[in-house]
Amino acid sequence: MTAPPPIYLDYAATTPCDPRVVDAMVPWLREHFGNPSSRSHAWGWQAQEAVEHARGQVAALIGADPREIVWTSGATESNNLAIVGAARCRAARGRHVVTVATEHQAVLDPVRALGKQGFEATVLPVQGNGLLDLDRLRDALRPDTVLASVMLVNNEIGVVQDVAAIGRLCRERGILLHVDAAQATGKVGIDWAAWPVDLMSLTAHKSYGPKGIGALVVRREPRVPVEPLLHGGGQERGLRPGTLPTHQIVGMGAAFALAGAEMAVERERIRALRDRLLRGLSAIGGLVVNGDLERRVPHNLNVAFAGVDGEALLTGCTGLALSSGSACASGSAAPSHVLRALGCSDELAHASLRITIGRFTTEAEIDAALLMLRAQAARQREPMPHHD
Ligand SMILES: *Cc1c(COP(=O)(O)O)cnc(C)c1O
Repeated sequence: MTAPPPIYLDYAATTPCDPRVVDAMVPWLREHFGNPSSRSHAWGWQAQEAVEHARGQVAALIGADPREIVWTSGATESNNLAIVGAARCRAARGRHVVTVATEHQAVLDPVRALGKQGFEATVLPVQGNGLLDLDRLRDALRPDTVLASVMLVNNEIGVVQDVAAIGRLCRERGILLHVDAAQATGKVGIDWAAWPVDLMSLTAHKSYGPKGIGALVVRREPRVPVEPLLHGGGQERGLRPGTLPTHQIVGMGAAFALAGAEMAVERERIRALRDRLLRGLSAIGGLVVNGDLERRVPHNLNVAFAGVDGEALLTGCTGLALSSGSACASGSAAPSHVLRALGCSDELAHASLRITIGRFTTEAEIDAALLMLRAQAARQREPMPHHD
């Protein structure tokens, strides 16, 4: 007998493709294989039409103009294109960029790479609740600052930064704002038309779409010049050349259309599950929630229990698929840089679990997870058996 697969509570690492998304994608793999750039026959025209339809679906979720959407391979590539591509275009004006200590590595690493190209970076700390202090940001902006990068929803602790207010501070000073919104689509409303944000990274696979497809949203008015990182066939107005993966693009479009249609109802359902989970976790005793609980998406709980080693708890709960720290950080022994930025001790950071819930999580799964966590926590708190 094989054990059932563990209960999936790691939706911030990736989400399953919604079956409706898979259904939308398959014909574009099986039958309609044309290259969207083929201009001389129906195979190409049909694929191009599908790509443009999906572009409209992605734009609609955030209130953008479809012409502002540039397809990429995911948020990592979008972040690199936005940060490196836009900063290089502005290098004549200044060579200072600003970001935040709790950003994803896919922002911190391109910022670091700019450092090797003569740029200087300020990495701002956050408050104990994980939110950026706007006064600190204001103080960090300089006459030679050309770009700031601040994420919308944090992947480890789920807190939501006020990017509209951050954008206003930047816009007044002629500084571009890039926002990594990989964890935000389908979880919080995004108002691209109203927010003073210049560049935004999106990805499909955190929102029930396929892996390997994303977009960079590049504002047209005021126009944001971006230097391409790749050079090739001129697709996406030369900003991101390469044959467009029609099936992936159709999948992202379908996923984002579902996100828009279902977000309001789904968010409340997930909030109810989160509240149930939180009540059950509180009963374990010694509960610490990392990051602000109010300014946070309901999909995320990042917690520790006093006197319980999180790694050991996770190892004991073989029936649960969740993360300690972030998916990327949990491969290494280093404590999460996000939890460290909140001021957590190494000990608390190591003891913390990230539980993320999503579209397919059921109440029964939450209850089963609570039973396992409660039993394991109790086992770990028992005094060690004594041998003489
Ligand atoms: C997952 C994630 C990324 C990376 O996205 P990919 O599409 O996997 O490259 C970047 N930023 C955040 C906040 C993420 O959660």
